[in-house]
Amino acid sequence: MSIELTQPQVMLHQMVVDFTDKEVKPLDILIDKERNYPTELWDKMIDTGFLGLTIPEEYGGAGFDVIASSQTIYDFAVRNASMAFTLEGHYKSVDQVLKYATDELKEKYLPQANHRIFGFSSTEPQGGSNVMGHTAKAVKEGDKWILNGNKTMITNGGLAQVYCVLLKTSPTELSCFLVDEDMLGFKHGKREKFIGMNGTPVGEIFMENIVVSEDHLLGTIGQGVEIGDNAHYDARISMGAIAAGITEHALTIAVDYAKQREVKGTPITQLYSIQEKITEIAIAKENTQLLYQEAARLKVAGKSYAKVATMAKSYGSRASYAAADHALQVLGGYGYSQEYPVEHLIRDARALQLAEGSLEKMMIEIAKEVVNEGEE
Ligand SMILES: Cc1cc2nc3c(=O)[nH]c(=O)nc-3n(C[C@H](O)[C@H](O)[C@H](O)COP(=O)(O)OP(=O)(O)OC[C@H]3O[C@@H](n4cnc5c(N)ncnc54)[C@H](O)[C@@H]3O)c2cc1C
Repeated sequence: MSIELTQPQVMLHQMVVDFTDKEVKPLDILIDKERNYPTELWDKMIDTGFLGLTIPEEYGGAGFDVIASSQTIYDFAVRNASMAFTLEGHYKSVDQVLKYATDELKEKYLPQANHRIFGFSSTEPQGGSNVMGHTAKAVKEGDKWILNGNKTMITNGGLAQVYCVLLKTSPTELSCFLVDEDMLGFKHGKREKFIGMNGTPVGEIFMENIVVSEDHLLGTIGQGVEIGDNAHYDARISMGAIAAGITEHALTIAVDYAKQREVKGTPITQLYSIQEKITEIAIAKENTQLLYQEAARLKVAGKSYAKVATMAKSYGSRASYAAADHALQVLGGYGYSQEYPVEHLIRDARALQLAEGSLEKMMIEIAKEVVNEGEE
């Protein structure tokens, strides 16, 4: 079951499957263990054009839409969820530059986004959910902005070279600025010791009296909450794709193992307890895929996609976690071993209930949308 792809999207999909089968799949466990991508793999990612997938052709990119980018993220996640997570962090940040930057800033930064990684930074050490409680700020001096403060838990933090950063421009106002690691006063901080998505660094940045010109403001003053929400909604389509990819990965491992494992001379695929788990994983994968693809379709059609994207991540984050746990059980004791690729799927899937808005906040958002629809 899958959304209908155009001819260029089919060709892209085939290219991604070939690339990830050859370059990513064999490194899945290694990436988790080493907590890093091999440099050669990363160079190949850039050379093949994956960073520029959604960048319009006029800025040197491939100009694909969100149906293609979410399919690509899914194809990566089936082989290694971290690589998909790194792309998700990059695509959602580039999308905000595309939507909110001035023409001059786009001319300067979008061509660079084909080979430099971008990140989106909102969370601060004292809290992520309450964005109005943030303290990092931008103060206007003449025709420049002076940026100060610390940000934390940024997907690609340390790996990324350019960041969209939400900063207070007044006690009641958030605005979004484009910040480059080359700027005076910029420093990367520590990498979080997270339990999963181990290829993707998630880390801190420090800004000390960074001076930027007016055109580094994305959108208008006070538009930060809207830009942050927009980045979340874009990212939640990708997160649904990652969840579906992890679930498909869990399914493949469980089915392959169950076919060759025997109990008393009978393959365990014939046991109802195993069939039930395989069925639950397969249903979860189809459901998650339908949700994120529908959100992508709505976005391309210019329709409201926030609710369905949030559902894709909310449902997919829990379903992929449960699917990975089912797969572990199918493998019995070997499922609990780090020598097998299942246990890291559980750790990877767990991130999806936190990144891009915690599960609790998403439940509230979906309920509000549903209740409001009923009142219209
Ligand atoms: C793998 C990973 C990647 C991440 N990537 C990024 C990134 O790229 N950029 C970025 O800015 N941040 C990122 N984050 C941070 C993430 O957005 C925050 O962890 C999340 O917003 C929650 O913030 P917090 O951790 O400070 O928890 P808090 O906001 O302190 O919340 C603690 C608990 O209280 C609950 N809670 C808080 N407020 C409410 C409420 N109003 N109603 C109900 N429950 C509530 C939360 O759901 C949570 O369970 C990432 C986190 C992870 C784990």
